[in-house]
Amino acid sequence: MDLDSLINAVKSGEQQDRVDLEAFVAMVAKGSVSTAEATRWLKAVHQHGCKVDDIVVLTNAMIDSGARLTWPAGPPVVDKHSTGGVGDKMSLMLAPALAAAGCRVPMLAGRGLGHTGGTIDKLESIPGFNCALTPAEMVAAVEAIGCCIAVQNDAVAPADGVLYALRDVTDTIDSVPLITASIVSKKAAEGLDALVLDVKTGSAAFMQTVEDARSLATSMVQTAEGLGIRTLAQITSMSEPIGTHIGNALEVIGSVLVLRGEGSPDTREMVVLQGAALLSMAFEDVNMDEGRRRIESVLTNGEALDVFRRMCIQQGVEETTAALLVRAPEKVLGTAAEQTTVLALEDGFVSGYDAMKMAQLARRHGAGRLALEDEIDPLVGFVIEAPKGSEVKKNQPLFTFYHSNSLDAEDLAELKSMAAVGQNNPVVPHRLVELIDFSETKA
Ligand code: URA
Repeated sequence: MDLDSLINAVKSGEQQDRVDLEAFVAMVAKGSVSTAEATRWLKAVHQHGCKVDDIVVLTNAMIDSGARLTWPAGPPVVDKHSTGGVGDKMSLMLAPALAAAGCRVPMLAGRGLGHTGGTIDKLESIPGFNCALTPAEMVAAVEAIGCCIAVQNDAVAPADGVLYALRDVTDTIDSVPLITASIVSKKAAEGLDALVLDVKTGSAAFMQTVEDARSLATSMVQTAEGLGIRTLAQITSMSEPIGTHIGNALEVIGSVLVLRGEGSPDTREMVVLQGAALLSMAFEDVNMDEGRRRIESVLTNGEALDVFRRMCIQQGVEETTAALLVRAPEKVLGTAAEQTTVLALEDGFVSGYDAMKMAQLARRHGAGRLALEDEIDPLVGFVIEAPKGSEVKKNQPLFTFYHSNSLDAEDLAELKSMAAVGQNNPVVPHRLVELIDFSETKA
């Protein structure tokens, strides 16, 4: 393996030698490349970028460093990835809804990162829920009930774990090719037929501008398509929290409500948007409209809720607990000791909520981690009583903060600044900002 020739190719914008790049990744995964050598390559890619064909080779080599799920003949295998949002609980509903609509969904997910929540932390607020599945257990769970949600682990794309740790200490995290290979390798290792990418943009997103979100989305779609996975990206806005429930256990409650056909229309619409896109990619005879109809139907008729209940049991939750969870989730999950409700100061319309401020306060109170080893408090979070656009009267509740520790003056000032009420009924734009799809769309 000629590392200098790889680095020279990166610097001069040429394609890297495939065999050398594959050997480099295999050696990284085995720990046989020195930190200094790996860092030289990472810094070159971080500074100069690299060709899509190289990202495909890199991603494939990262997948080859670990297990690849394989599937017996059967329904399409699909999944989604989100770059992370506030109140982004989609996976909890999407996996069961897609399974109920006839797909197989082997979802690998992560823990909370920065200010955004993680699907695994949310599921682990359910007593008994086991996310630590081996690849064989994932396949068995999906063959039994149609979906599973498991935590990313070293069995899958271990080269990513090694490279990510190096990126973390060499300031090379924010590189589109490296983020692409990291995310797509873990999804592609699931053996997918179709993938939808939810790339967030806005003040509470990692990619704050649409241009940056578009660049990452384009790179990820091209790479996943290069690996033979039918893929599209939805760029969606992330300045306002999604739906009415934010926080780990509270998002499980918000998800159960949507799975019961109730709950936040904003959350439901995101599930329908992502689910319909996947159904339209997975089935020849399904377009977006028909996909929407099918997802709406399983959310309304209880089929998605029943798959969610069975997924909980399959992943370790007692049957009686799972039955109660879908009937009265707060009885299973509990409620934070303290609740502080913010009231409207005047009559008017709710003009919006600041997702970043909400996420930061919740994180400070234990909803997210400040250091890797921090324990999270699953009960901390928010419930929005008056969503954006609601007409409110003076002293009507806007939202409630659920917490375990008392609030100081700074917390109280933050709480009061999170919601705005104005005299005009605000336009509530659709969350979908842009679609990145390089295929012919179906009529
Ligand atoms: N999430 C990942 O899994 N990898 C990255 O590089 C960034 C976000």
